[in-house]
Amino acid sequence: MKSPIPDYLRNVLEKARPLEGGEPANYIDVLADADPSRMAVSLCTVDGSVYSVGDDEVEFSIQSISKPFVYALAIQDQGLEAVLEKVGVEPSGDAFNRLSLEAGTNRPMNPMINAGAVATHALIASPNGSVEKRVDRIVQALSRLAGRQLHVDQEVYEAELKDANRNMGIGYMLKAAGMIACDPQDAVRGYIAQCSINVNVRDLAVMAATLGNAGIHPVSGERIIPQESVRQVLSVMATCGMYNSSGEWISNVGIPAKSGVSGGIIGALPGQLGLAVFSPRLDERGNSVRGVAMCKKLSHDMGFHMMDMSQIGRASVRSWTTTIAGGSKMPHACEEQVAVFELRGAVRFAGAERLTRAIMREIRPDEKGREGRPCAVIFSFRHTYSLNDVARRLIHENIHRLAVDTNVVVIDPAGVLKLPEDDPMKPIVAVVQNEAEARDYVGGIGCKIVSTADDI
Ligand code: GLU
Repeated sequence: MKSPIPDYLRNVLEKARPLEGGEPANYIDVLADADPSRMAVSLCTVDGSVYSVGDDEVEFSIQSISKPFVYALAIQDQGLEAVLEKVGVEPSGDAFNRLSLEAGTNRPMNPMINAGAVATHALIASPNGSVEKRVDRIVQALSRLAGRQLHVDQEVYEAELKDANRNMGIGYMLKAAGMIACDPQDAVRGYIAQCSINVNVRDLAVMAATLGNAGIHPVSGERIIPQESVRQVLSVMATCGMYNSSGEWISNVGIPAKSGVSGGIIGALPGQLGLAVFSPRLDERGNSVRGVAMCKKLSHDMGFHMMDMSQIGRASVRSWTTTIAGGSKMPHACEEQVAVFELRGAVRFAGAERLTRAIMREIRPDEKGREGRPCAVIFSFRHTYSLNDVARRLIHENIHRLAVDTNVVVIDPAGVLKLPEDDPMKPIVAVVQNEAEARDYVGGIGCKIVSTADDI
């Protein structure tokens, strides 16, 4: 069976495609030449399944999306206190490249604007270390997060360096204020190299999912960022990540995020997933026009706004195969296999996605491409505490896709599934109270379990 999730992502992409507003960033000539028709979206769950559609292999420079990850690295290298002495955490509401420092402390306002990002960059490795050492440390750290070796795009680096007067000005301002120890030109050169690292949306979704997964890499299971640093980074992303539209973003989309001038945006949803979108045309505040539209739609449709805390709890999925025989509906001596999926807990998108994967693992095509279907599929919601709206819709969709050519039986004594009265599949999906009723429904009276094989 085909997962509905990529189909949904394709729909998100196509809905945003007609938006023609904005222009690619024009202050770096390589970025100004970006193909504006490129578009991609990717989503990575905290347990490492990556979905992506569109131009998901097209690389672009990471730009400001590097800032939260380098901030995490600076905290790792210097400790949070030392970092806070040099860079604040207040939203500035100013343009990203404004030459400004916080009154009283002389610190840059936060690590997501350029002044804060240059000061943060200068804290990587040792404060007096070389540019090469800092850049190498950042490239290796970002590569580990992406799960593949990343590289600095020399063309982007040269292009940005040749017109870096404003950032150089920021470097000198920081040096004069005592916020960086190294040579200001070196700090800016390193910062520009950090912005010129190439990535695609799949890399970014996995990197964001590491933040969403409390610092543990969703694919390798390695702890990469300490949990306290993740909280710090996500807080700053939530308040300062979207340039001077951060307030509007957090109230509309509700996901800690960071955007960059090459048209990427990442979002890290605590406990659930990381997402990334890409489209080069930017609005007047520097955020990707189509990217913002895609994130808004995803958040709205999937219930991703983090303040919508309708449920607390975890879901777990168990699946097994039961062989039954001897029932009145079965010819004598015939044995039939039934796939059973049991969902426990308070289920949101992440739990429903796990169930989707379990279904796809069990009911997959054989070598000839035919789907090896069991004679029936039983869903048990006996231990399901609740389904939120998106989980329910995703499970309904799975049931629709299965019921086309398989018997579907639902054990749902508390009525959590709520198939609508007008659901086209309602007449053919049997809803029963317990396992024995489900078995009798599939095999007929007298039906017995011959064996059970746990599949997880
Ligand atoms: N390299 C860019 C700059 O400092 C990054 C800007 C961004 O993506 O916001 O101008």
